[in-house]
Amino acid sequence: MIEIIRTLNQFETFRNNLRPGTIGFVPTMGNLHKGHLSLVKESLRQNDNTIVSIFVNPKQFGPNEDFEKYPRTLGEDNKKLKDLYRDEEFRGRLLTIFAPEVPEEIFPSNFSTKITVGDLTNKLCGINRPGHFDGVTTVVYRLFSIVKPHKAYFGQKDYQQYLVCKKMIEDLRLNIQLVPMPTKRDEDGLAMSSRNQYLTGTDRELALVLPQTLEKLKETIKSNFWPESYGLALELAGESKKEGDWDYLEILDAKTLREPSERTHTVILAGALKLGHTRLIDNKLVEIRYAR
Ligand code: AMP
Repeated sequence: MIEIIRTLNQFETFRNNLRPGTIGFVPTMGNLHKGHLSLVKESLRQNDNTIVSIFVNPKQFGPNEDFEKYPRTLGEDNKKLKDLYRDEEFRGRLLTIFAPEVPEEIFPSNFSTKITVGDLTNKLCGINRPGHFDGVTTVVYRLFSIVKPHKAYFGQKDYQQYLVCKKMIEDLRLNIQLVPMPTKRDEDGLAMSSRNQYLTGTDRELALVLPQTLEKLKETIKSNFWPESYGLALELAGESKKEGDWDYLEILDAKTLREPSERTHTVILAGALKLGHTRLIDNKLVEIRYAR
């Protein structure tokens, strides 16, 4: 059986009495799909105890974003986790959901601390979503301090978020291991996202431009030597941006999110595409090849 804990008090009591063993943590905003579930499975495999949090974090939404309409589907999420947990593979592992019912328990009205990671946050999604990453790091820190995990599982679909949280852990020496997990996609290549359900029929088709463009850029970089491949990919990105409403489409060093340099080994191809009121993000990592 999976326990669902809905108050901070109950969670703290649960946490203080948790049986010995490693604790894996999967922070989510709910509306779970196979991408989220792949993180939960990996945590169940690697840890004695797994905690999944479900909390739509008000601090990471801008004033004109979709906080109010973000899908809240706790009953269905619970069922999906139950189905997954039934697997023989996870026998003896403990899975618990922490889904605070009252958001003020996580952020009381007088909460006045903000965690800001510099540099990595002032590009890509940080440009058109000011304050977004402060909201992410603040809630992740807050949840870490409640859950006190050994490992935390993050999806590479939100690669910048993963890097920013990793930097926070390093800088604050939090002693938590971040485990990056590959992006789960629908059969046609679109990265799974809770926001995909906002897409109407034709927009769902147009959305494929995002993974397809990233794939073309990847092929260009893989089939040429650096830095020629970079030049060709930049040209292709420039052309691709003319079609569709792109927030960004960039080729950056995967470690620093800066322009690639002679020290770059892996680049990230990152895109954000707008379809009506919906904004989708995706990325691919590519190792670059130098001619010998
Ligand atoms: P969210 O509920 O959107 O905040 O996501 C919770 C976690 O699931 C984050 O670490 C995301 O990166 C991860 N995630 C979301 N979509 C996917 C996906 N398609 N594949 C893998 N991980 C994902």
